Amino acid sequence: MTNLKQLMARSLRADVQTMKAYPIQSSAGLVKLDTMENPFRLPEALQQALGERLGKVALNRYPAERLNDLRAALAAHAQMPEGCDITLGNGSDEIITMLSMACNVPGAVYLSPLPSFVMYAMSAQLQGARFVGVPLTADFELDGPAMLAAIAAEKPNLIYLAYPNNPTGSLWDDAVIEQIIAAAGEIGALVVMDEAYQPFAERDSMPRLIRHEHVLIMRTMSKFGLAGVRIGYLIARKALITEIDKLRPPFNVGVLNTEAALFALEHVGEYSRQAAILRAQRELLFAELQALPGVHPFPSQGNMILARVPDAAATFEGMKARGVLIKNVSAMHPLLANCLRITVSNAQENAMMLSALKASL
Ligand code: PMP
Repeated sequence: MTNLKQLMARSLRADVQTMKAYPIQSSAGLVKLDTMENPFRLPEALQQALGERLGKVALNRYPAERLNDLRAALAAHAQMPEGCDITLGNGSDEIITMLSMACNVPGAVYLSPLPSFVMYAMSAQLQGARFVGVPLTADFELDGPAMLAAIAAEKPNLIYLAYPNNPTGSLWDDAVIEQIIAAAGEIGALVVMDEAYQPFAERDSMPRLIRHEHVLIMRTMSKFGLAGVRIGYLIARKALITEIDKLRPPFNVGVLNTEAALFALEHVGEYSRQAAILRAQRELLFAELQALPGVHPFPSQGNMILARVPDAAATFEGMKARGVLIKNVSAMHPLLANCLRITVSNAQENAMMLSALKASL
C-alpha cells in the first residue's frame, strides 16, 4: 500500500530518524586507543582454563541460577553494603537505558555536567525526557554554583556524575559532590555515580556516598579488561533496585558472558595487576605529553588522557595515517576545542602513539 519512505514517515519516530547512532570508529589494522580498552590479554594458561570453562556451559538454556552467582560475586567484589541490592546490565550502557526508562515521570528532567559520557543525553532523548547539561569549568572541574543553580531551577529527577569523568579523566572535588547530593536529596532526585573508570582512580564512592539513600553506584567490567563481555552493574537501596530491575530486558546477560565474568572475578588479582600497570603508564605518559611543545594534557584518574593540541583534526588524521587510532573529541562540546582523547595502553603501544603524535603535530 505504501512505499518504504511513507511507511517510515508514518510508523518510525521522526526524532529517531534525525538522530545519529552512537559513533564507533573503524579500527582495522590500527593501534586502537580510542575507547579505553585494556590492552592486555590473559596469560596463556588462564586463557586455556577460561576456554575449558566456557566449553562446558549449557548454551541450550536461558541464563538462570548462575546469574545469582555473578550478582553475589560482584556484590562481594564491590563491597556492597547491607540494605543494598545489585542488578546487571548488558554493559552499563543498558543500565543507563533502564534508568532513563525508570525515571521518566511526566515532565522528567535528567541532568549531568558537560562534557561527559554522551549516553546520558542520548538515552534521555530516546526516552523523551528533557536533558540539561551544565558546563564544567575550563579546567574540567565541577562548577559547583552552576550545578546547584541548575538543580534548583530545573528540578531534575536523575543526575549523572561520572567519577572519574569521560572524556576529561577528572575526579571531581568530593566537597562539591556532597553539595550536589544534598541538593538532590532535598528535591527527591536520584544521583548516579558512574564509576566506569574506578579501577584506575585513587578513590571511589562506595561506601562513602552509598550511605545516602538516593545515591546509586554504577560500575562496569569493561574498562577492567572485559569490554567484550558486556557486564555493567548498579548498586543501590533494595527498594530502588526492585523497581529498576523491572525495566531490565529478560535474560539480558548471556550464559557465556556470565561465566567469563565469574572466571575474571576468581582471578581478580591478574586484572588488578593490569590496572596497576596502566595507572603507572598513565603517569609516565602524562609527563611525556606535558614535555611536548604545544601539547597540553589534563590530569586524569582514568585510563585515558585528554590533551589539547594546536590543530586536533590534523593531528588526529596524521596519527591515523601513521597507524594509531585515538578519538578527536573537539566537536563534542565547546570546552573541548582542539582536544584529543588518548587511551592509556601498555609501554609499547604508548610509545607508538607518542611517536605518531610527535610526527603529526
Ligand atoms: N560510563 C562511562 C563514563 C563510560 O565512559 C562508558 C563507556 N565508554 C560507559 C559508562 C559504558 O560502558 P559499558 O557499556 O561498556 O559498561
